Amino acid sequence: MSYWTPELLSPAGSLEKLKVSVLYGADAVYLGGQKFGLRQASDNFTYEELAEGVEFAHSRDSKVYVVLNSFLHDKDLEELPEFLGLLEELKVDAVIVSDLGVIATLQKHSKLVVHLSTQASCLNIESAKLWQKMGAQRIVLGREVTIKEAAKIKMATGLEIEMFVHGSMCMSFSGNCVISNYTQGRDSNRGGCAHSCRFEYSIDFKNGSNESSDLKKAYFMSSKDLEGIRMLPEFIEAGIDSLKVEGRNKSHHYAGTISKVYSEALRYYQSHGNFLSSDMLVWEEELRKVSHRDYTTGSLDEYAGLDSIYNHREQDDNEYVVSGIVLEASVGQHLLVDVKSAFHPGDILEVMPFIGQTEKLKVDFLKSLSGVSLEKSKPGSVVKIPYQAGAEKFNIIRKRAVS
Ligand code: SF4
Repeated sequence: MSYWTPELLSPAGSLEKLKVSVLYGADAVYLGGQKFGLRQASDNFTYEELAEGVEFAHSRDSKVYVVLNSFLHDKDLEELPEFLGLLEELKVDAVIVSDLGVIATLQKHSKLVVHLSTQASCLNIESAKLWQKMGAQRIVLGREVTIKEAAKIKMATGLEIEMFVHGSMCMSFSGNCVISNYTQGRDSNRGGCAHSCRFEYSIDFKNGSNESSDLKKAYFMSSKDLEGIRMLPEFIEAGIDSLKVEGRNKSHHYAGTISKVYSEALRYYQSHGNFLSSDMLVWEEELRKVSHRDYTTGSLDEYAGLDSIYNHREQDDNEYVVSGIVLEASVGQHLLVDVKSAFHPGDILEVMPFIGQTEKLKVDFLKSLSGVSLEKSKPGSVVKIPYQAGAEKFNIIRKRAVS
């Protein structure tokens, strides 16, 4: 017997990350083309990359959703029909939109399936019904909605419902934040968010009185990151169709680890119909190995409050760094590795299989492609290291950064 579970939707910030997410268990990925999306900093896909990505994902039964969730001006809309034609040609599974002008243009020029972006901040049944009339087949609810509320929206509309399960959070309602516009001159809602909410600000508690000012410095607008693994039973019971992982700008390690952990948990549920608390502890420990700003369940259970504030300066506190990605595994001989960060002979690395436990690998030798021994691997180069049984193309190789 197999138990129903939601789709796991992972980020694909680049073609390589798409492959990593899919191979580590994502049922679907979302990505941006060169225009009309919200992540100017991620390696948005060219047409050729998109074609390869769709083919790769579809050949492994994963879906591809393309974000068109920027808010557009008239001159931007003029270029949209041509892009929509390309997406139809490539047979992408849906587009994620937030602007009514984009939906109207879509309906005039294509038959693409419409998912409403979280940027549209849909939080209630009436709003969902209206978007449904406009042609949305799925709603990515605002992160302010609880799972119980989401279940009611699904019940009342019959729409597919997608919710965030993991990743960074906004302190504002999605699609309504203009802090970066005013503090950095960058438009958050057209892809320019400068993460201004993560900065330190001073609060003046003087409050209009004549008393001397009590200036306090704090990171009071910065949110902890969302972690919904413990809420999986509630998501499943509510029939939430898709669980989204935030993070197109994040690393290969992040894309691989989060996809692997959540897909492992969902697979376990599919065959057992429950979760073991001992497994939950292991999964949580794995989730702590990627860069994060402490974890919170946000508004999944009840509306987020003070305890979801991350009152710290952001720092690079990765417990693990990605050393490289396996390009080829020559059985019994060596692994060919695309180096992402430097490592040395003698280092202990870890190879992360697509399914199952991470295995340690001692770098007994480090060689260039032509077989010359190296003292250090250089990011961007390809090197040979000892073979690890079971290692496969696109496995992540990582190294513990702190003890
Ligand atoms: S500044 Fe912060 S709250 Fe605003 S859009 Fe960016 S991440 Fe979200």
